[in-house]
Amino acid sequence: MIEQALRPATLRDLKTGLHGELICPHDDGYDAARKVWNGMIDKYPALIVRCADQTDVINSIRFAQSQRLPVAMRSGGHSLAGISVCDGSLVIDLSPMKGVIIDPNRRRARVQAGLTLGEFVQATQTFGLATTTGTVAGTGLAGLTLGGGLGWFMGKYGLTIDNLLSVDLVTADGQTLRASETSHPDLFWAVRGGGGNFGVATSFEFQLHPVGPLLAGKLVYPMTKAREVLRFYREYTSTAPDELTAYASLSTTPTGLPVIALNPATTRRRARLKTSATKPSRRLSSLARGARRRFHRSCSSMSTAPPAACLRPRPPLRSVASPTSSASWPRGMPAQRTAPISISPGPAHAGRRWSH
Ligand SMILES: Cc1cc2nc3c(=O)[nH]c(=O)nc-3n(C[C@H](O)[C@H](O)[C@H](O)COP(=O)(O)OP(=O)(O)OC[C@H]3O[C@@H](n4cnc5c(N)ncnc54)[C@H](O)[C@@H]3O)c2cc1C
Repeated sequence: MIEQALRPATLRDLKTGLHGELICPHDDGYDAARKVWNGMIDKYPALIVRCADQTDVINSIRFAQSQRLPVAMRSGGHSLAGISVCDGSLVIDLSPMKGVIIDPNRRRARVQAGLTLGEFVQATQTFGLATTTGTVAGTGLAGLTLGGGLGWFMGKYGLTIDNLLSVDLVTADGQTLRASETSHPDLFWAVRGGGGNFGVATSFEFQLHPVGPLLAGKLVYPMTKAREVLRFYREYTSTAPDELTAYASLSTTPTGLPVIALNPATTRRRARLKTSATKPSRRLSSLARGARRRFHRSCSSMSTAPPAACLRPRPPLRSVASPTSSASWPRGMPAQRTAPISISPGPAHAGRRWSH
């Protein structure tokens, strides 16, 4: 085992220099820490570093290089292929890095890479703001963003990467840089959809938008109706307004029944969608007409609670400060004319500044 091949003094040096946690195979938390969302993945990394800040990321990269260890990066652990962990590697786990700073006046958020989508939405919705993210709250914001980011607001605001303003990265040689349209533009182009091989992203800056209630629902049909449902979906979405985003998905129910589902969501308070597809058409089968009626009925009767109200409160996030000077604002962010609210990790990390 690689951990045994490393000298105890070498491991001790790594551990001493970390602000976060070093987890080795003999440690109690090892099995929980190596698990990822995809339950079919069962990998045994040599070491896991649960990073507290960017310095931990730099130290981990330098250590891995000095010991010739392969590196795996993990933020939300929701890689479908399970690539955020591999055998004999050093896993750089950014999930403890959950700092969020929101500037409601400029509608911008700078967030650390460990946030899940649910945590991000909860923080931005405090100000009635949001940007495009994915559909499942537990997914990592970092991996989703680096892959492009498909979500409910993309009809109106584009993909997550269309709202990405800058990224802080640690490169393979342990250097730190900020990539944006004006700084390292080639790298910025690459990280917007190119995935995780261009460095370790430690924080992201996003453009936010005023987003009110989101109405969403799911219409499920047996797979035998797939042809009709997909025809309806094509016609309906071709003329739908930008505020409406809809997915069609082929899946199985928990009891194993193959189904087709339409998943529409709209930010219009009432989904009065004046599109040609919503007018009675002989080309629509009775099933499609039924789907249309049910969607309208479900939208108009649905709760208009903001997305934040639909999310369970997540204890690790709490509002801790309203910085009044630029001193507590991360490097590179312009000073604020009015105080932004800073939401940072809760009691477990209380007192520790989000530092670079
Ligand atoms: C249930 C579920 C629902 C999903 N829904 C959507 C959706 O609605 N929209 C959508 O667009 N996608 C969706 N996805 C896909 C998802 O965006 C990707 O799998 C994404 O990689 C998950 O991000 P993560 O941080 O959780 O990944 P992780 O498993 O933590 O990481 C996966 C890989 O991403 C890269 N990476 C992660 N963090 C960093 C970092 N900080 N720096 C550099 N590289 C990094 C690395 O290569 C890493 O190995 C969904 C996935 C699941 C499992």
